Amino acid sequence: MSANKITVVGAGHVGETCAQRIAEKELAREVVLIDIIEGIPQGKGLDQWESAPIEGFDSRIIGTNDYEAAAGSDIFVVTAGVARKPGMSRDDLLKTNAGIVGAVTREIKRVAPDAIIIMVSNPLDIMAYEALKISGFPRERVIGMAGVLDTARYRSFIALELDVSVRDIQALVLGGHGDSMVPLSSYTSVSGIPLSQLLGQDRIDALVQRTRKGGGEIVSHLKTGSAYYAPSAAATQMCAAIVQDQRRILPCAAYLQGEYGFDDIFLGVPCKLGAGGLLEILEVELTEEERAALTKSAEAVRGTLDKLQSMI
Ligand code: NAD
Repeated sequence: MSANKITVVGAGHVGETCAQRIAEKELAREVVLIDIIEGIPQGKGLDQWESAPIEGFDSRIIGTNDYEAAAGSDIFVVTAGVARKPGMSRDDLLKTNAGIVGAVTREIKRVAPDAIIIMVSNPLDIMAYEALKISGFPRERVIGMAGVLDTARYRSFIALELDVSVRDIQALVLGGHGDSMVPLSSYTSVSGIPLSQLLGQDRIDALVQRTRKGGGEIVSHLKTGSAYYAPSAAATQMCAAIVQDQRRILPCAAYLQGEYGFDDIFLGVPCKLGAGGLLEILEVELTEEERAALTKSAEAVRGTLDKLQSMI
């Protein structure tokens, strides 16, 4: 099963890798890569297409600056944005990326009013909110990528610690994308064995802390950019769940309308993804400590949202 067309907006590190992964998995007949810079998507798209005979995939990759090529896309993965430059405050970045995501969303609405948007651009929970409000799409069709990445990081660290296959590790990370994310130790297991039976609380706490700082750890190595291999893999997994109607339970940023006691906010929660996008939000039991951490995370997201609204 595959889609007719998937468009990736932003041909930077995350976008280009995402387009390549989607094409290699043949998740769509056509993969469109769009960027604002002339030549970049054309060059990258052509280079990727030239790898098709070697890798053996038939998804056509088209690089362009023109949204007409994206008309009728089933899914848009939005990775467009700018990184902070010298002299720019975080608030400047927030306003700039909100402007970019707003412009991109208007184009999506114009050329593909039935599309599903998977938001990747940061600050994630805020950009997903902007896309939902500007598009007017139902919440089923605007979903943020963060939890799949954060959970993958947590699982990868547990696998290293225990020297076991990553495939056997199940975990759940909730909350906003950032330092306030909430990894749920009580829902973490290795082939069904609760993690607490295999690791002491101090080691679990250390892995949780490394997960919280996972994005920063990569930035501290790269110095000039942020992570993209794992982020693009995460967005691709969400695309696969939707186009193949897999009904996977994945942690995603979803627009809450009362779930977990929150309203009118995007927050990472367990979601069922399938044909049509977000099929269901699952409400799991939380300990008092986890609930307090989720509330703190929601307050951080709300604070940034208020800051953006005061700027525009
Ligand atoms: P990058 O700078 O390599 O790429 C961004 C691209 O967006 C550039 O090619 C730029 O030209 C393009 N762009 C800017 N304005 C545009 C517009 N109006 N229309 C189309 N394209 C436009 O950055 P990156 O490393 O690929 O990261 C992309 C975004 O994803 C960033 O906001 C980053 O913070 C975010 N990110 C999120 C997660 C997550 O977990 N949600 C993980 C990694 C990165």
